[in-house]
Amino acid sequence: MKSLSKTALIFGISGQDGSWLAKLLLEKGYTVHGTSRDREASGFSNLTRLDLKERVRLHSTVLNDFRSVVQVIRDVQPAEIYNLAGQSSVGLSFQQPVETLDSVIHGTVNILEAIRFLGLGARFYNASSSECFGNTAVPANETHPFHPRSPYGVGKAAAYWAVANYRESYDLFACSGILFNHESPLRPARYVTQKIIRGAADIAEGKADRLTLGNLSIARDWGWAPEYVDAMWRMLNHATPEDFVIATGRPHRLEEFVALAFEHFGLDWRHHVVVDDALLRPSDISLSVGDPEKAKRLLGWEAETAMPGVVARLLDAEHRARQGFAS
Ligand code: NDP
Repeated sequence: MKSLSKTALIFGISGQDGSWLAKLLLEKGYTVHGTSRDREASGFSNLTRLDLKERVRLHSTVLNDFRSVVQVIRDVQPAEIYNLAGQSSVGLSFQQPVETLDSVIHGTVNILEAIRFLGLGARFYNASSSECFGNTAVPANETHPFHPRSPYGVGKAAAYWAVANYRESYDLFACSGILFNHESPLRPARYVTQKIIRGAADIAEGKADRLTLGNLSIARDWGWAPEYVDAMWRMLNHATPEDFVIATGRPHRLEEFVALAFEHFGLDWRHHVVVDDALLRPSDISLSVGDPEKAKRLLGWEAETAMPGVVARLLDAEHRARQGFAS
């Protein structure tokens, strides 16, 4: 029989977290398999940027197609399965609510069902999100109530409860990481953090003269993505399957993020940033901050990089990319 040890399957390996997790698992000696909706069409630019593309085995898998999910899990026989796939933009989820809910909820349930159906002892990590909580008047821990404020958050909350239900009903080793925002240069430009970094750099280089943004008063708990994928691995290698909040515990307003990025180039953001009401969301979260105490206590995990370090690292990576260096 094929050994189950040290083989991992990452659904959504082309994304930011999927690529950083592949790097971490390869460094730990795992054989890493990963999925994309269409292996032939995906550019895998993140894997290429990290010089990993030839070191992982890639599969075409559509998460909301049960046959497709069963087949890849049966073929790979992974010891650990990470679900990092699905429509992940909060803003886009207001425009594509059904696609978002479908990919997040059905995708997660299909993996849970496939694990049961195949009778695998695989451990399962599901990418949940701080968006489940909505506004957090106090730092949210694992018992904080859910009140999502976007279709994305609604989908993540449903998937979270599906994981909890399968764990309790069928004794699966299944857990959710409730991760707060985490950034890296692998984020696409659609996300506000990259939009700000690239926008400030373009203005400094004279390629643009203004940057258009939405609500600057929101506050988020921003961490560094490579550290957050380590927390995912620790959850699956903990003795018992449990859910964990992963965060820095420190909120910062988006305006601070913008000011730091522009200051780096000797610019005053107020001369270059235009707030456009068209970019405001139908409902938004004004304050999002997590309490990572449980992760520190049980997993020995703690965020090392918080603001302003996140901004500094993003600026450094952007500078290197513009000079033609890898991450
Ligand atoms: P990305 O968007 O970078 O990656 C997600 C991957 O899912 C994509 O590369 C894509 O792969 C696939 N995907 C995209 N849209 C769909 C869709 N409609 N249906 C099915 N698959 C799709 O996300 P991240 O790596 O940043 O995040 C990983 C997971 O963690 C996501 O579930 C995200 O929601 C969650 N999360 C992320 C946080 C963050 O701050 N980054 C915070 C909390 C949770 P392909 O095109 O190759 O199929």
